[in-house]
Amino acid sequence: MTRSFAEYLSSTLDAVREDSGGEVHAVPSALAEADPDRLGVALCTTEGEIFDSGDSEHEMTIQSVAKAFVYALVLDEYGVEEVMERVDVEPSGEAFDVLSVEPETKRPRNPMINAGALVVHGMVGGPSSSWEDRDRLVLEGLSRLAGRELSLDEQAAEEELAAAHRNLAIAHMLRGEGVMEDDPRDVVQGYIRQCSVLVTTCDLAVMAATLATGGRQPVTGERVLSVASSRQALSVMTTCGMYDSAGDWMSEIGIPAKSGVSGVLVGAIPGRFGLATYSPRLDRHGTSTRGRAVFERMSRELDLHLLTDP
Ligand code: GLU
Repeated sequence: MTRSFAEYLSSTLDAVREDSGGEVHAVPSALAEADPDRLGVALCTTEGEIFDSGDSEHEMTIQSVAKAFVYALVLDEYGVEEVMERVDVEPSGEAFDVLSVEPETKRPRNPMINAGALVVHGMVGGPSSSWEDRDRLVLEGLSRLAGRELSLDEQAAEEELAAAHRNLAIAHMLRGEGVMEDDPRDVVQGYIRQCSVLVTTCDLAVMAATLATGGRQPVTGERVLSVASSRQALSVMTTCGMYDSAGDWMSEIGIPAKSGVSGVLVGAIPGRFGLATYSPRLDRHGTSTRGRAVFERMSRELDLHLLTDP
């Protein structure tokens, strides 16, 4: 059984391997210089059993996939209602780095676009946390979700920070609108370091499986998140996780998911498993082209669409 499922994953990778569509992300150089042919998949069941194939142990930066998990950690810290007062949960239908807030409440539209993720990052550790506190707490939280001590790609963080004009503009806008109290430069620095945490595809599958179990890390057995926080994070992944392709992703693939510009993709099938892929070339929405193809195949072949009666 184990062997045949590993073979299934391997044949799924073979089926998408020749697809060379898309482009690798330009900044930082760790992304621009990533081997575009790398391809990995991993799946972790809610019992903690891991199946993987390809480059599943290769480390890369987590990028925006961290947004979903840091959102869940902050929900755990504050409760859903308080977080909702600062960041809404409406799909924006816009790109990840758009400079916009809701006209009336001034809240970012959701925590999966950068504006929302910056506010969420600033909330880590409570109102008086320093950027060093937030930096440490994010790394600790992501490590508990992965079940091992994670580290940062310091050079990638520095390079991205040096080119972070757009994220700085978003953070200054948020501060100007009064929805963020912290120094915009500190929040952008912390947020970029959060994007620069190094993970493997296997780590991501385990982290996603933690959401699929309702917050219990399936390998260590530790309760990392409450059921309510996990459900809220999955809900927002379902409606907003794929930026301006969220509707298309939901109708075709039907799995709560989050993409990152390093080419990582995570999805969680509640009560069943976490799924992750890695392949660096991206489509125009910032989604890994071959990662998406793997999710599409597996959703169809294994009846994973949330709205399918299995
Ligand atoms: N570090 C990137 C940014 O904030 C992440 C974007 C993404 O992964 O979608 O610009």
